[in-house]
Amino acid sequence: MLTIGVDIGGTKVAAGVVDDQGKIVAHTLRPTAADRPDVVAETVADVVRELAAGREIEAVGVGAAGFVDETRSIVRFAPNLAWREEPLQKKISGLVGLPVVIENDANAMAWGETRFGAGRGQSHVVCVTLGTGIGGGIVIDGALYRGRWGMGAELGHMQVVPGGRPCGCGNIGCWEQYASGQALVKEARELAEAEPKRAEILLGLAGGKIEGEEVTEAAKLGDEVSLAAFASFADWLGQGMADLAAVLDPGCFIVGGGVSRAADLFIDRARAAFAERLTGRGHRPFAEIRLAELGASAGVVGAADLARRR
Ligand SMILES: [Zn+2]
Repeated sequence: MLTIGVDIGGTKVAAGVVDDQGKIVAHTLRPTAADRPDVVAETVADVVRELAAGREIEAVGVGAAGFVDETRSIVRFAPNLAWREEPLQKKISGLVGLPVVIENDANAMAWGETRFGAGRGQSHVVCVTLGTGIGGGIVIDGALYRGRWGMGAELGHMQVVPGGRPCGCGNIGCWEQYASGQALVKEARELAEAEPKRAEILLGLAGGKIEGEEVTEAAKLGDEVSLAAFASFADWLGQGMADLAAVLDPGCFIVGGGVSRAADLFIDRARAAFAERLTGRGHRPFAEIRLAELGASAGVVGAADLARRR
């Protein structure tokens, strides 16, 4: 039986028809009107109608970049979209006439990776998605862990540095201010400003404004500041995972998201930092730290599978 998975991000809606083996048999993509909740629901309905034409579809799963309530129907709040107490499930199912499940997008990605990607066969998984911020998803005993109110697994907002960098969430010193794409760039900019001599390659590549791509390129070329930014990023990533292991004791971590494309520059060091900081090290197995396998389609595949298991 087929289900449809939809991934609503800050700039686009991606959707696919997915079979019970996690294979996408058809897909489509539309821009998102981030400031218009009604238009977003209409856009989702449009892609569902398009994909459902000529196919028997059982249900629709929607991964949304926001805080989704425990009934998996209302988006309480979205930092990058105009949703406030948005009854997304009702709106979309009313428009398409199919059962609809709403899920936080990082949870949907974590589920997709656990079922059909890097976490296949694992029952205890923590997914760390490194994008602009840090997204997270937790699977315990083979089930997605959502918390009492549906708002668990916001890993990026653990507050790790007292008096540290301010975070978009309103708190201070959150993990994602030290181990995300944004953090990497911030670190590189600060170091380059303090010691421009060590950042000659980076500054040469970047011209006026340093972004993630330039930090990655410069690091590959041996730029000292860019390598230092990646080293700091990797240490924070490893330490955060060690803290998560202290609480959750997962069998594996899956590291994904846009920044993971530069994994060669940080993953070994992150693994070492994890091993060095894990509590009880030497007397317990180390969780494996794997790279995500499904790329950008993890959210669509995960949402579709969650709809199947609704
Ligand atoms: Zn935060």
